[in-house]
Amino acid sequence: MEQTFVILKPSTIVRGLVGDVLGRFQRKGLQITAMKMAQLDEQILRVHYAHLVDRPFFPDLMQSMMATPVILMVLKGKDAVEVVRTMTGATNGRKAAPGTIRGDYSMSGQENIVHASDSPESAKVEIERFFKPEEIFDYALPHFRNFYAPDEV
Ligand code: UDP
Ligand code: MG
Repeated sequence: MEQTFVILKPSTIVRGLVGDVLGRFQRKGLQITAMKMAQLDEQILRVHYAHLVDRPFFPDLMQSMMATPVILMVLKGKDAVEVVRTMTGATNGRKAAPGTIRGDYSMSGQENIVHASDSPESAKVEIERFFKPEEIFDYALPHFRNFYAPDEV
């Protein structure tokens, strides 16, 4: 089973949307294998958003991501990276489709509720960046058979 990395961004904490967003992932059938609160700093954000450091909005993005602690999590499931990206929607909340997290909760290209890994390769790197191996749990879900057909697992 694949694992992906998600951040509930400061606006999600401040707006009281943590339960709503987390509930969507759980109701979908994704398994939470790691979760913690952390205050991000400039050093880790420069690495995490390395592809954006030269963009004019980068200082605002840093401020936004450091405004409050965030919630970091690892979600597990078949094709979890693609499933979570689809649930997340387009980067800009104004363009994200209704029914997606950003489409339903965001009016912004920056304050867009969640980060989600964009490929299995970046998921692996991002999980290792934010979690120690012992913070990620491997446990059985008793109703696992109700989530997948035998040939899907
Ligand atoms: N971002 C922004 N302005 C932009 C593009 C991106 O503020 O024009 C922020 C936004 O919060 C986004 C993050 O930078 O989620 C990372 O950008 P990326 O292109 O990786 O989008 P994502 O993978 O989050 O959809
Ligand atoms: Mg991205």
